[in-house]
Amino acid sequence: MNNPEATILIVDDEPQNRKLLEVLLRPEGYLTQVAASGEEALASVARCAPDLILLDVMMPGMDGYEVASLLKANPVTSSIPIIMVSALADRSARIVGLDTGAEDFLTKPVDRAELWLRVRNLLRLKTFGDFLKNHSLLLEQQVQARTIDLQNEAAKQAAILNALPMHIALLDRQGVMITVNATWRRFADANGLTGAACGIGQSYLEFCDSVRADDASDARDAATGIRSVLAGLQKSFSLEYSCQSPTDQRWFLMTVSPLAGEPPNGAVVSHLNITERKLAENRIAYLNRVYAMLSGINTLIVRVRERDELFRQACRIAVEEGGFRMAWIGVVDKSVGKIVVAVSAGVDDEHLSALQALFSSNEDAPLIKNKVETAIWEKKAVIASDLQNNLTVMFGKKYAEVGVRSLAVWPLIVAEETVGVLVLYAGESEFFQGEEIKLLTELAGDVAFAMDHIDKQERLDYLAYYDALTGLANRSLFLERVAQYLRSAASGAHQLALFLIDLEHFKNINDSLGRSVGDELLRQVGEFLSRYTGDAILLARIDADRFAAVLPEVRQQGDLTHLVEKMIGAFLAHSFVLNDAVFRVAVKVGVALFPDDGADADTLFRNAEAALKKAKANGERYLFYTPQMTALVAGKVTMENQLRQALENDEFVLHYQPKVNLADGKMSSAEALIRWNDPRTGLVPPGHFIPILEETGLIHEVGRWALRQAVKDYLRWRAAGLPAVRIAVNVSPLQLRHRDFIAEVRGAIGIDPQAAAGLEIEITESVIMADVQGTIATLKAIRSLDIGIAIDDFGTGFSSLSYLGKLPVDMLKIDRSFVIDMTAAPQGLALVSTIISLAHALNLKVVAEGVETEEQSRLLRLLGCDEMQGFLFSKAVPAEEFATRFLVTPTAA
Ligand code: C2E
Ligand code: CA
Ligand code: CA
Repeated sequence: MNNPEATILIVDDEPQNRKLLEVLLRPEGYLTQVAASGEEALASVARCAPDLILLDVMMPGMDGYEVASLLKANPVTSSIPIIMVSALADRSARIVGLDTGAEDFLTKPVDRAELWLRVRNLLRLKTFGDFLKNHSLLLEQQVQARTIDLQNEAAKQAAILNALPMHIALLDRQGVMITVNATWRRFADANGLTGAACGIGQSYLEFCDSVRADDASDARDAATGIRSVLAGLQKSFSLEYSCQSPTDQRWFLMTVSPLAGEPPNGAVVSHLNITERKLAENRIAYLNRVYAMLSGINTLIVRVRERDELFRQACRIAVEEGGFRMAWIGVVDKSVGKIVVAVSAGVDDEHLSALQALFSSNEDAPLIKNKVETAIWEKKAVIASDLQNNLTVMFGKKYAEVGVRSLAVWPLIVAEETVGVLVLYAGESEFFQGEEIKLLTELAGDVAFAMDHIDKQERLDYLAYYDALTGLANRSLFLERVAQYLRSAASGAHQLALFLIDLEHFKNINDSLGRSVGDELLRQVGEFLSRYTGDAILLARIDADRFAAVLPEVRQQGDLTHLVEKMIGAFLAHSFVLNDAVFRVAVKVGVALFPDDGADADTLFRNAEAALKKAKANGERYLFYTPQMTALVAGKVTMENQLRQALENDEFVLHYQPKVNLADGKMSSAEALIRWNDPRTGLVPPGHFIPILEETGLIHEVGRWALRQAVKDYLRWRAAGLPAVRIAVNVSPLQLRHRDFIAEVRGAIGIDPQAAAGLEIEITESVIMADVQGTIATLKAIRSLDIGIAIDDFGTGFSSLSYLGKLPVDMLKIDRSFVIDMTAAPQGLALVSTIISLAHALNLKVVAEGVETEEQSRLLRLLGCDEMQGFLFSKAVPAEEFATRFLVTPTAA
């Protein structure tokens, strides 16, 4: 494609810049020379005569402007194109460069595609300029030689006349042919122009008058010219005309010169075959058109950012600057295996729809379709010439009407695949030849290059603003949109709410079921949210398992709480189907409000994040931002250190909360709940520090401590003769997954053969669902030690009820939120009822968590729930208090 011989001189005082340009140009096949200063550049130009110079502007000593002026002032070097490379992008710097004679500019940092295009264009223009210069010199010499012959003709001998390549005839005053040279005679014999029609002694004027058909007007002009020369009205007459032979078209130059006399005694008529010159001129005109088009399209490619625009402008340039009668670009639609006519220029609507219909039909190919398909499959240009006479061409009539005589189809190839076609229609029957084909092939290559470039750019743009997985906006687009909504919220003086929605336990799904299942879940969540909010523009995915939403106008703050609760409920109620299993997704939500929680999108977002973080830490489903929260998040690091200390200093304690048998109202067992007795602030609830223990890995040590402490307390009470109630210990998902966990449990109960009977562990539902097989194995091992197992927080994980029957567990704890909902709405009651009967069907005991009212307890009893736990009976109390209040009293009674 490029001119591999071309030598490019790179002038720059910075070695790095020189290197970069060399590295960019070399793979394109150019030879490079370098110069580190203006002075060196001049010396190098004299030595290596480069074809193009890339010239840095700012250089110590002689700068780029000076070098350019010197080169342009010297006739030997003035035709070498110069591209100025400058860090200055402003107009005035460019104008100074133009004044010094530079042909083009590039701005640092240099864009690779732009560099290639500009270098290539300038080199082409130079080659073309050189060609034109040589060619016109040659033509001039030829014409001069022939003119001398003509002038001398009258005085030369017949021998000379006969040797001349032109047809010459001598006419008398009446226009009758007196004699002709040998060339004339040969031509007349070959073309049947002899005897009565056109021979010696016949009137040449009459012959001209008798010419019919296509050439009639030229012949009439010729007769008029001869008559006016013979009448002495004109000193000479000449006419260029063409005629169509059975095989090709020829051009002639006819000249009429008077003999001596007043009026002249006759005239000499000559016809010179100038076909060759004409063709050469045409070729130059064609090439000129193609060059104009090429340069127009290459400028377009650098500038255009959209595929449609590229196509439209390319077709327009082909018609306006390339002088083609029509042009269209079609795109290969792989899904249906057809060509779609995308854009066109010079094509009227009727013809366009005819083309479109032709390509969308399954009809077998008339010529144009055939040619297009061949171009696509063979990946090379396909040309059809002389269309006017070609009856097999469909649209033949149409082509005649618009004057189309030839057409060519270029495949547009990206990554070795034909993605489209460029179709050009010329008014000349032999337009597409040698050099034109080569240039137009390059042009098609350039258009394809631009298509590829634009596609890549579009993908980048898309990735820059959208989440490829869900198709939702990403964080940066979301923030932009929020900023926009904020402007109208500010001017409308209304509130705006920003929500962050975090999927719980997503990591578990990803780890256990694999990334592709995780991705599928995210896609489904995206779809669910879009449907739920009814408007994807309000949504974004901002992190692996985190989504954001904006409510542009909040009417009443009370509604907002309701809205969030409803959404969380809708999430839980929705069945996400992965690998044929139904999953439930629990979410946590952080909310920030404009204007109270921040005046701009960033602040609102950060504060919603803080709210979400706190919600997670506190085990709340959702939280609104309050200013203290930010401080709390910032304090996390010191919290971690404090927790390490707490472990060392034995500051953790276990409190015990009784579980009560609903049938007889008696305590059946208890749950151990950890607290941190912080010497500075007092008791800290686990929601504040368990997430940090988990994040930092401290949970393993603290969890081990809790397990051992619970066993210790149990054994102590037993030893003291108190009634033996099982103690349930909460186990973090991280602990459960740890490979030493079973060994640790063994260690905890190993101190006493009685210990196992007093121990139960609680694990949250979502953990089980994340890795069913792995969990089943661990749970079986624990059960084989005689330790009870309860599923905690049931209803908040992604329950696939079908698995529940396979799990080796003894008990199911209904999450507090369901207990609350139970009295709020009939569905709530139905849900709890269903859970209880399902659990019973699977031989599981059911415990209701967080029972606070008599009504709840009554309903649960009615529904057949086995046990309850909650403030109604007692909150969790310190070990000693637990022993005195709940262990001593019953036996004493
Ligand atoms: P959980 O296992 O669901 O524990 C029940 C939580 O509900 C306890 O909160 C308890 O105090 C609270 N609760 C009980 N009855 C009521 C009620 O009637 N109303 C209300 N509003 N709340 C009630 P707590 O002690 O703050 O514990 C929170 C969570 O921290 C626990 O939720 C558990 O997941 C975790 N946790 C507690 N101790 C440990 C531990 O030793 N290890 C691990 N890994 N997690 C623990
Ligand atoms: Ca629990
Ligand atoms: Ca629970």
